[in-house]
Formats: sequence, C-alpha cells, structure tokens
Amino acid sequence: MININLSERQKKIIEIVKKNKTITSKEIAKELDLTRGALRSDLSILTMANILKAKPKVGYFFVAENSYLKNFDELYEKKVKEVKSVPIIVKEETSIYDGIVTMFLEDTGSLFVIDDNEALVGVISRKDLLKISMGENDITQLPVSIAMTRMPNIITIKDEDTIFEAAKKIVNYKVDALPVVESFTDDKIDKVDKKNNKLKIIGKVSKTNITRVFVDFKLDI
Ligand code: ADP
Repeated sequence: MININLSERQKKIIEIVKKNKTITSKEIAKELDLTRGALRSDLSILTMANILKAKPKVGYFFVAENSYLKNFDELYEKKVKEVKSVPIIVKEETSIYDGIVTMFLEDTGSLFVIDDNEALVGVISRKDLLKISMGENDITQLPVSIAMTRMPNIITIKDEDTIFEAAKKIVNYKVDALPVVESFTDDKIDKVDKKNNKLKIIGKVSKTNITRVFVDFKLDI
C-alpha cells in the first residue's frame, strides 16, 4: 500500500484521460493550455504509479483497476448505513439541564428529540443549549422542546443515500449532524401521523462519521 498525494494538475490529467479511450500527450497539453514539455514529469509520475498507461504511437489511457480515482468514487458512493452511528435520543419533556448532562455523558454534540410515539420531532445542539442557559431561566424546569429546531425544518438522510449526499447536506445547511430516518411501518403511528410524514430515527451521520471515512480511507495503488 502506497499513499501518494496527487497535485491538482495530475488530477486534471486523470480526468481528461478518463474521458477519452486514448489520448496523446499533445492533446492533453492542448486541453490544459500547456506545452508537452511541461506535462512530462506529471505523465511519468502517473504512469509510474500505474494510474495511466502509455501505448507507443497511440497515447495514454486510464487504468481502471487499482486506481486512485476508482477508489475515490467508491468512497463517495459509500452508503449512509455503512457509516452511521447510534443517535442519542431524548424525550420532548427532558429538561434543558438533563439535556446538557446527557450531552456530556454521551460525548455527543447533538441530541435528537422524539415524541411519545417515538417519532422524530426535534434536534438540539450545543449552541441551542448554551443560548437558553444564558438567560435567567431555571433550566431544570424548561423542556428541551422550547430550544430545539423542530420538524419540518430538520434536515434528514436515509440509509440508502450516499455519504456524499450526507456531506453535502452537512455543508450546505451548516449543521453538525443529520438524523438517519425511515418511515414508520408498524402500527405505532396511526394513519393521521403517517400522512404527516412522521419519521423514525434509526441512526445519525455527523461530521465525525464523514471525517472518519476519509481517515480510514487508504490509497491502494
Ligand atoms: P452547534 O450548535 O454546535 O453549532 P449545529 O451546527 O449542528 O451545532 O447546530 C446549529 C443549529 O442548527 C442549531 O440551532 C440546531 O438546532 C440546528 N440543527 C442541528 N442539526 C440540524 C439538522 N439536522 N437539521 C436542521 N437543523 C439542525
């Protein structure tokens, strides 16, 4: 196993070669607006790493197996269900104080809130708890439900979605964690609630889960 860091230009070259069955160095140079000479060292690194192969008089082609980009695609396509972790869940009536204690004890940054039917109703973050604790409130008497972000404003993800989708949502919505949800199939939730799209929480994907995937990922070239 060798780990190499490819430069932006080398990655661009791979993309260009990938788009073509075979391509000459002259054509690659043209696409990148460079001279052939400027590309020489990058092309030799990529062929030595066995990412590209050169055929005399034909040009370069992409080696699909064992390659950097194939692994990268695999990484992006990993399913949420493969990386999710156990969500820490509290009831709506849990006090702000107990919410804070739970966050410390469970070493988590987000709590998910459920109602009596175990349907997801809210998410409460560190800042939500800090904010409510700064006023002159008796936080042992106030429920987490007054400080949480509520449905339908919760950004969720599903088991079968890719971690790329999850990462995009985390970045775009500026949140630390997404609840992994599915619809209720049992009789716990009556028909009205089913119509209201009540969701069952079956996991969580956080910045930490996604980061761990990248850390665990090793280049296999
Ligand atoms: P922190 O408070 O530590 O910055 P977040 O960035 O996760 O943590 O939370 C920022 C705000 O977004 C909070 O008000 C929180 O209630 C809300 N929030 C957290 N996760 C979600 C989510 N999955 N969907 C919608 N809102 C969320």
